[in-house]
Amino acid sequence: MRKRLVAGNWKMHGNLIENKNLLNAILPSLDKLPGADFAVCVPYPYLSSVQVLLQGTKVLLGAQTVSQHDKGAYTGEISVNMLKDFGCIYVIVGHSERRMLFGENNQTVAEKYIAAQKGNLVPILCVGETLEQRERGITEEIIKEQLKVVTELAGVESLKNAVIAYEPVWAIGTGKTATPQQAQDVHVFIRKMITAQNTQIAHELTILYGGSVKAGNASELFAMADIDGGLIGGASLIAEEFIAICRAV
Ligand code: PEP
Repeated sequence: MRKRLVAGNWKMHGNLIENKNLLNAILPSLDKLPGADFAVCVPYPYLSSVQVLLQGTKVLLGAQTVSQHDKGAYTGEISVNMLKDFGCIYVIVGHSERRMLFGENNQTVAEKYIAAQKGNLVPILCVGETLEQRERGITEEIIKEQLKVVTELAGVESLKNAVIAYEPVWAIGTGKTATPQQAQDVHVFIRKMITAQNTQIAHELTILYGGSVKAGNASELFAMADIDGGLIGGASLIAEEFIAICRAV
């Protein structure tokens, strides 16, 4: 059985009080849900306070990006070991906002993925095409290239300790969701690509869908055979929405 996972990506939202209120509202419900893992990927300054709030619950802590470097003169950067100090289990790498707004490319994303795994963090590797790329019919080519750099540099075996999130850029924060079939098709493509290198790893790989998942569309997305959960942005900030999405998985 593949692991199912719902991870919230809080992006640059929240503050000490809002975070506490949000977690107080969701944790009692999530703790009663069997059969899946749940995580929240929070802004760096709140790792410590959220770590305390998550203690004794089944919700795991994650970060939203990480440096590819161990330590050194990298002003403003945060290392894997620093994230480990606060009990992080997951880290998102290659989110499209990092790629588009902060100049991350397939090479730097792969380096971050490798650094995360070296320090025993589980990378949630985001891949996905833009609207323009989808309209040009090159979705698979784009995803293939994004994944190829990682499997070439880190090896296909590395996927035993990773999660992939398919996030079509045109669906992130836009309210436009991929149809369940559109998402399923890309998930199958990803799994087939990995199957060509290792059937067992492909079979066991958790592949999340992300892009305007809401309480109202989560069940039909998660019902698809190759969608193993979700990476949730906006809806992870609304307690009832996030609880309903976690229930749907
Ligand atoms: C995301 O940021 O990874 C995401 C999927 O955002 P949203 O759910 O808001 O589209």
